[in-house]
Amino acid sequence: MGRKSRRGRGSSRNSKAQQTPRALPRDAAAFFGAETVEGPSWDFGRPYILRRVGAAGATKNYVCPGCNGTIFSGMSHIVAWPQEGGGRVDERRHWHTRCWDRR
Ligand SMILES: [Zn+2]
Repeated sequence: MGRKSRRGRGSSRNSKAQQTPRALPRDAAAFFGAETVEGPSWDFGRPYILRRVGAAGATKNYVCPGCNGTIFSGMSHIVAWPQEGGGRVDERRHWHTRCWDRR
């Protein structure tokens, strides 16, 4: 078991949502307010997408990978994820702004 061949991802039948004439990179840099920066040293400085979350956007508690402390809801903080991951939700990490700066 376990032979999943999933080739040919390019076939986009049923693409009625044509918002932009040019193809956007699938690296989620198209997110509003996102920037690409050098990632944490423990991730070999891979390029990361970074997004700043304002206090109003922070509605949950998160664990910061920089200090293993809690980012409480209502705290503005950083969300970052590896650029090549394409911004999958499970790749995203929430950081204290200060911890991200010292990554
Ligand atoms: Zn932290």
